Amino acid sequence: MALPTVQLTHLPAGDGPALALHGGAGVDPASLTDEQARTATAALEAAVRAGREVLDAGGPALDAVCAAVRVLEDSESFNAGRGAALTTEGVAELDAAVMSGDSRTGAVTCATGPRNPVMAARAVMERTDHVLMAAPARELLEHWGLDLVGPEYYVTEARLQMLRETGSFTEYRHGTVGAVARDASGHVAAATSTGGITAQLPGRVGDTPLAGCGTWADDATVAVSCTGTGELFVRGAVAHEVHSRLRWAGQALPDAVREALDELVGARGGDGGLVAVTPAGEVVLAFNSPGMYRAHDTGEGPVTGIA
Ligand code: ASP
Repeated sequence: MALPTVQLTHLPAGDGPALALHGGAGVDPASLTDEQARTATAALEAAVRAGREVLDAGGPALDAVCAAVRVLEDSESFNAGRGAALTTEGVAELDAAVMSGDSRTGAVTCATGPRNPVMAARAVMERTDHVLMAAPARELLEHWGLDLVGPEYYVTEARLQMLRETGSFTEYRHGTVGAVARDASGHVAAATSTGGITAQLPGRVGDTPLAGCGTWADDATVAVSCTGTGELFVRGAVAHEVHSRLRWAGQALPDAVREALDELVGARGGDGGLVAVTPAGEVVLAFNSPGMYRAHDTGEGPVTGIA
């Protein structure tokens, strides 16, 4: 079986901060209307600007990735926050994770209530001794000072339509949003947020909130945020695999990313992609799916793409 081709953008290390993000690999660019593509591109650009603003002001990579992901969560174009994929029961169960290069991490799964699940993940990291919380209580989210919404906030007509059209669990309608950044001090961070897969069973958890699977950051190697067939990203611990290839095999970032996607995702019948940044500011955006919403800014202004 021929492996799906990995499309890869590689930006060499620069002097300053760097930011890359994705709005999910679950998009077939050919099926988008011009209007849909325009709206998504505007949101990608707004997200990259929000992250870049933090970095340009000398802010930490963690703040930058959270700022970028919040914009993507607020946009209906992507499968996270408002406009998230719905379970077979027609509800959104949100997963999100953050990780900073000093190995601190926090995540939520099956969350309902936070307008921005990424901020709930950050609160788990900063306000508890835990790393992952399932269905965090509304009172707790309130106590953490997060913006709260009702379950109907996440549900859009477009996602309801997808749910009606989805005949079985295997017809994936997925997507995710995520960002990685390297700040002026050379620290890295990653954040990822998703509604999972349309028509997933209630309680299903994908790779996004699992450290090492969909999200990883280490100041000695790389920050990674993934999107794609979540089960395969879990089985391959793909984000950590990229880190391991850099750390133990001394591979170049583009080779590590390409081989991880080929061996652990493409060869096992899945698809997806990831964005990665090293502490030196080297950036890779890669996917083996028909498209991936993506953007980066390494200091020369925002660059966006879908196909
Ligand atoms: N990886 C996500 C999940 O399995 C979906 C996606 O990124 O397309 O929940």
